[in-house]
Amino acid sequence: MILRIEHLGIAVNNMENANRLFTSLLGTPNYKVETVESEMVSTSFFKVGESKIELVEATNPESPIAKFIAKKGEGIHHVAFEVDDIRQMMQQLREQGFQLLSDEPKKGADNKLICFLHPKSTNGVLVELCQEIR
Ligand code: ZN
Repeated sequence: MILRIEHLGIAVNNMENANRLFTSLLGTPNYKVETVESEMVSTSFFKVGESKIELVEATNPESPIAKFIAKKGEGIHHVAFEVDDIRQMMQQLREQGFQLLSDEPKKGADNKLICFLHPKSTNGVLVELCQEIR
């Protein structure tokens, strides 16, 4: 079951500038920074009520984020939905015909198991499923 929008992922060119801008915009500093080696990104998290903003910067030109920015520019990169049981949700969505980008959940930032859905099967929106690791 999908519980809520957990965060919006925003692709940025320069984390230092983006952190300054979003701190000013949201009126609160980030509460966490984390590098995710497997995705070749560094991330910065801001709380916004019940949800979060995740800034994502490429750490390597081969990073999917570098490719995204080269193609589309900076901006909203993905929508992350929190789910109660990621494996069950992946199975259900697969059966419904959605295309998943991995067969198994991966370890993401912010203490989460994650899986992405291919934007081709979701109206061009990169969807992330995430479940808190308990
Ligand atoms: Zn995310």
